[in-house]
Amino acid sequence: MASVQHNGRTTPHGTDGSADGGTGAAPGAAARRDLAVRAAVAQGLISEAEPVVALLDVAGIRASAAALRTAFDEVTAPGTAVLHAFAVKAAPLVAVVRLLGEQGIGAEVASPGELALARAAGVRPEHTVLDSPAKTTAELREALALGIAVNADNPQELARIDAVISSGPGSSPSPGPVASPLGLRINAQVGGGSIGALSTATATSKFGIALRDEGARAWVVQAYLDRPWLTRLHTHSGSQGVPLERMAEGVRTVYELAEEINAAAGRRQIDTLDIGGGLPVNFTSDEETPTYAAYARLLRETVPGLLDGRYGLVTEFGRSLLAKHGTVLTRVEYAKSAGGRPIAVTHAGAQVATRTVYDPASWPLRIAAYDAGGRPKTGPAVAQDIAGPACFAGDLLAENRPVPLLEQGDLVAALDTGAYYFSNHYAYNSLARPGVFGFVATHGAAGDAVRFATVRAAQTVAEIVTESGGGYADALLLDD
Ligand SMILES: *Cc1c(COP(=O)(O)O)cnc(C)c1O
Repeated sequence: MASVQHNGRTTPHGTDGSADGGTGAAPGAAARRDLAVRAAVAQGLISEAEPVVALLDVAGIRASAAALRTAFDEVTAPGTAVLHAFAVKAAPLVAVVRLLGEQGIGAEVASPGELALARAAGVRPEHTVLDSPAKTTAELREALALGIAVNADNPQELARIDAVISSGPGSSPSPGPVASPLGLRINAQVGGGSIGALSTATATSKFGIALRDEGARAWVVQAYLDRPWLTRLHTHSGSQGVPLERMAEGVRTVYELAEEINAAAGRRQIDTLDIGGGLPVNFTSDEETPTYAAYARLLRETVPGLLDGRYGLVTEFGRSLLAKHGTVLTRVEYAKSAGGRPIAVTHAGAQVATRTVYDPASWPLRIAAYDAGGRPKTGPAVAQDIAGPACFAGDLLAENRPVPLLEQGDLVAALDTGAYYFSNHYAYNSLARPGVFGFVATHGAAGDAVRFATVRAAQTVAEIVTESGGGYADALLLDD
């Protein structure tokens, strides 16, 4: 990450008790966030010209990566090969994937763009897993040439892999063993969670091979017996809204299938199980719960054989690695009222918080109010709408939310937005993608210092014109 601003100084002002003025202890997540907001103002990161920015807490991301590694180290037999592959879609930012790589975490990718981004971040092929449900033959060929792990979604995709292998993958001269570990994605059909759009293990989910459908299990077993190079099984049974027990049930289902296939093969043909991601995130407080440790212990209780050293493991966590460490910070452009309801009009709406705006009941976000100097705002809570800049009435970050009454020039922070929010921009109203800045906050005797680094520059208006076909302005002036 390139440093853009250095050592901005702010005075200590703990708001949650975790910034313990002057003792030199590392500030907690909420205190780090407050320091970063204050410094973003002081250092001109957020301004009239750039009224919405996204902030990423580097220390928090490192801590989550370490917690993930430790959780699985504690439940797996010594020597078990474990690859934690970050689901890139949760935060498709090269510097984020690189930071996680520094922490020993690989990449789960699901499109040519995500694969290119993981490669740009320096993720090695052996730490990369390709999972998209709609891989083209060219993508399969590239993945196999690179030696990237591939989980086939369906029988037709497996037939394409057969063809790629028998024609010799990529540049390799002759048919033969491929470097890529290959497996099938299984829908364990254990049921969904509270958010339908994120439930991957329903009876009719579009992902993987529906294991409980008639004839499916026998077909899968035979597919492995026919292909000695199929050595993995994959499932991703949960995501936000799915209870941990149900996720673990999905993992047990594929473990039992692996045992059945290995028994039928008379050898340990399946050597690695990819158990997907999906740890839910707490969006209601700064507490990080459920923890990776709790999920790992639940797996040990539910599927002890998975962790006894006979299988390598791949995980694919996304949201839980990043969500708590991102903040969208925006200026209140206007404060108004309608029908007795105060409304703060900001620059953060559907373009950065698409899911929240379109499905607020499933994706409520915490809102923190700051004054124009970036200090936490005090005063009685007043129910108000926090609106975005987009031209439709539903463009609200929060509706009727009690926070100190916001005024023109104040700042609003949408918390827990590090995954699937500002990095998954929605181009409605040609609103620019905001800049993303990582921060490191230190707390010492000389005061608090916050250092920012550009992760992604804000999109310019000229770039918007280009992306909108600016180079083809005359294209439709066709003669009849
Ligand atoms: C989205 C996805 C993940 C990550 O899910 P999270 O809920 O963000 O942890 C993992 N694996 C696959 C195949 C996915 O599609």
